Amino acid sequence: MVYESVIGLEVHAQLLTQAKLFCSCSTTVQADANEHACPICLGMPGVLPVLNRQVIDFALRTGLVLQGAIASTCRFARKNYFYPDLPKGYQISQFEEPLIEGGGLTFEVGGVSKDVRLIRIHIEEDAGKSIHGENLADPSKSYVDHNRCGVPLLEIVSTPDLRSPEEAKVYLQTLKTMLEYIEVCDGNMEEGSLRCDANISLRPVGSQELGTRTEIKNLNSFRHVQHALEYEIQRQADILDGGGTIEQETRLFDAARGVTITMRSKEEAHDYRYFPEPDLVPLHIDAAWIERVRQALPELPAAKCQRFVTQYELPKYDAEVLTASRALSDYFEATVQLYPQPKIVSNWVMGDFMRQLNRGALAPQQAPVTPSHLAGMLQLLHDGVISGKIAKTVFDEMYKSGKTARQVVEEQGLLQVSDSAALEDVIQQVLDDNPAQVQDYRAGKQKVFGFFVGQTMKATQGKANPQVVNTLLRKMLAG
Ligand SMILES: [Zn+2]
Repeated sequence: MVYESVIGLEVHAQLLTQAKLFCSCSTTVQADANEHACPICLGMPGVLPVLNRQVIDFALRTGLVLQGAIASTCRFARKNYFYPDLPKGYQISQFEEPLIEGGGLTFEVGGVSKDVRLIRIHIEEDAGKSIHGENLADPSKSYVDHNRCGVPLLEIVSTPDLRSPEEAKVYLQTLKTMLEYIEVCDGNMEEGSLRCDANISLRPVGSQELGTRTEIKNLNSFRHVQHALEYEIQRQADILDGGGTIEQETRLFDAARGVTITMRSKEEAHDYRYFPEPDLVPLHIDAAWIERVRQALPELPAAKCQRFVTQYELPKYDAEVLTASRALSDYFEATVQLYPQPKIVSNWVMGDFMRQLNRGALAPQQAPVTPSHLAGMLQLLHDGVISGKIAKTVFDEMYKSGKTARQVVEEQGLLQVSDSAALEDVIQQVLDDNPAQVQDYRAGKQKVFGFFVGQTMKATQGKANPQVVNTLLRKMLAG
């Protein structure tokens, strides 16, 4: 039997506010355990939550770019469950009256445009984190860190419009780029600022009926999303081919083994007993508020891509690669500010810079080579202080050490040799060592010229100024 997979994603994005959703505690992750916890986010008796207005601004921004319908009134709801890292015994979320309904995202997979509709976007607070004792003093104990309690999240729920793990991955990448562009989420999946649950079912190709679905919880990298779904498709197909039925259940992805495992069955599913949050009034959003947010929207990827083509006269391909990530486009523009040769900067950013980034899995803003370092190196190259070949070595060394190009060049003696007297000696040696080729050249075999250039560059470890070498060689070979 050939199956079609039907996939939907629920993405949790941590909002980039300074303070938590309902109290003034900091949201920073660089903190000791329980450093950012107060009576409100710990849910002490008698405290009252106060809504952080910026959370609504960020949610509205997201709703606008994802083209959802913004409710004129929305309400918060209590989602009740017991867990050690949830001291209140409930999370404040949204249930029947979310802030945003509908909307969608369009992206390209394998050259084909794909639309995914959204069900809703709602606001909720994060829970804390349980730490089990393997790495702590007493491995038999579990610990709780409340820093994440009350951190604002957006939950973005798609319809099951996705048809392959690849589509799911590209959807998530596109969403991440969008959230980074509008500056509501840093997209850091390793630190958990962006994570997702995936639901998936199979049905025979051509069938309209939905099969029984399973949900895979807490996927925190693009690779995990893709691998978990690939595994789950194979697992479900094997069961269906064997005449079995799929259990509706929640599963976890074991990345080390590349498999999904049962977390809880339908019978064990939580009944969250949602009810309207009694400590918060319904929230009214008027048209003026939405308009203020719309006016302040940052430039979006498609507009920026177009601007890169017109303003910097870059090929469309370059513009697409550079604007695929907000951070990369920022890096490019910061470098061009300092070294206004856009195409040269683009070549270095897309080439050596991205190669190094990918190798170390770093974000552009974390790279040891800053825009000013790169611009400094390009200036040395432009001034003829270093050769094009040496520039690659200098760049790699800058990336390794975090030093400036000038420091690297001085420490390693990589200055380009343009001094004619010094180069004449080297060239004379090359000619003396290769009398047969000299004879060939003088007999009219012009092609041998390249050989002499190569030998001279080799003898100077790539440091010779190629233009000077060319001029000297022609003169000396004419002899
Ligand atoms: Zn607090």
